[in-house]
Amino acid sequence: MTQLPRLVSATANPHKLAEIAGILHALVELLPRPAEVPDVVEDAGTLEGNARLKAAAVCAATGMPAVSDDTGLFIDALGGEPGVETAYYAGPNATYAENRAKTLAALQGVADRHARFRTVVMVVWPDGSELAVEGVCEGLIATEERGDRGFGYDPLFIPADGDGRTFSLMTDDEKNEISHRGRAFQALVGALRERATSGLD
Ligand code: IMP
Repeated sequence: MTQLPRLVSATANPHKLAEIAGILHALVELLPRPAEVPDVVEDAGTLEGNARLKAAAVCAATGMPAVSDDTGLFIDALGGEPGVETAYYAGPNATYAENRAKTLAALQGVADRHARFRTVVMVVWPDGSELAVEGVCEGLIATEERGDRGFGYDPLFIPADGDGRTFSLMTDDEKNEISHRGRAFQALVGALRERATSGLD
């Protein structure tokens, strides 16, 4: 049996690592980010730029190809906010609950509640080559929180490809099937297969 190519993950979040490893398992052996690799300041101003900063830092520290992802929630009625700043919408140390409360307040009385999550996944190799793919999940921002599973904006986000439930009311499998991150990593599977077929790995 040939050995699977190895990728080091830039995420230190064990829940995300397990989710990503599950999607990539047939193609790639995913290694956790070594504890000694410091956190990267995500100040590139775009999802793609931030994903590149994280993957390049882990690649440089380990000498191995590295994979990272960066996600933002883009709300039409707010001109695309919170976007790249999704994690920090209510301030630099904001909790998920504070971010959701700010979102509901900003959309108080607003009829157009269309929004989308976007995830950019980036792989950086030690020779400097890179691969970027994207996953998008269209949806609506609910008028109140519904459900208590998941994290972040899950209690507020109603995906367009679902049945009216928020992400927080879905099982992990139901969410991963249609989520921005699930779709981005599915796209990565396709792109890595293509790369392998063209003899780059
Ligand atoms: P990250 O780039 O994956 O760290 O995501 C940035 C922020 O987007 C997180 O802090 C969450 O607030 C939000 N976010 C990302 N993915 C999801 C999701 O699947 N559900 C809800 N919120 C999410």
